[in-house]
Amino acid sequence: MLRVGLTGGIGAGKSTVAARLAELGATVIDADRIAREVVEPGTDGLAEVVETFGEDVLTPEGELDRAALAAKAFADDESRARLNAITHPRIGRRTVELMGQATADAIVVHDVPLLVEGGMGANYHLVLVVDADEDLRVRRLGESRGMDAEDARARIAAQATREQRAAAADVWLDNSGTADLVQAQVDALWHERLVPFEANVRRRRPRA
Ligand code: ATP
Repeated sequence: MLRVGLTGGIGAGKSTVAARLAELGATVIDADRIAREVVEPGTDGLAEVVETFGEDVLTPEGELDRAALAAKAFADDESRARLNAITHPRIGRRTVELMGQATADAIVVHDVPLLVEGGMGANYHLVLVVDADEDLRVRRLGESRGMDAEDARARIAAQATREQRAAAADVWLDNSGTADLVQAQVDALWHERLVPFEANVRRRRPRA
């Protein structure tokens, strides 16, 4: 199994790259999705969040009200730590479980927006960073999600810098061009680097 960590700033194109890698045959594990799943209605994760932060972090439908939770949990370091203590172990266990379900010859792509911020690079055989020109990211986020430019820039400023990501990257993928171009880059990466690397990892570490 080859473990690839995929990251990049908001709107850089992680989901776009992950979707193409999945089409090519990768097993994609989406960290954002797992983070949502562990606090879905009916989970013990959500029950513990409510126990800790109160009923008013729920919407009338019984779902997590993210804005209400953020207002409470990100108010101070201790609250943030309490939320992390609920979510992080659950996210970790689910991630390990999904990794364990992958086949021995799989190329597993873990899409983790905050991989660099979390210092997680050493967990992977290879770290793939997707990047795009900042103005372009702001424009794409506006067009696709209606995010206003000021909000997009504030989010970008709160994340790791391009230099910090570059320091963690084994492969740098520039997604400032067309959708066709990034697809071609991903295809080349898959055939020329990931597939041969996976075969190499497996040859070097035969399973007992
Ligand atoms: P987030 O960090 O918010 O999850 P992301 O890094 O996963 O974002 P995407 O969702 O893949 O980024 O891309 C952001 C938006 O830009 C999407 O609407 C996507 O369709 C669009 N996009 C991505 N790559 C290109 C491209 N090369 N040309 C045009 N639009 C693109």
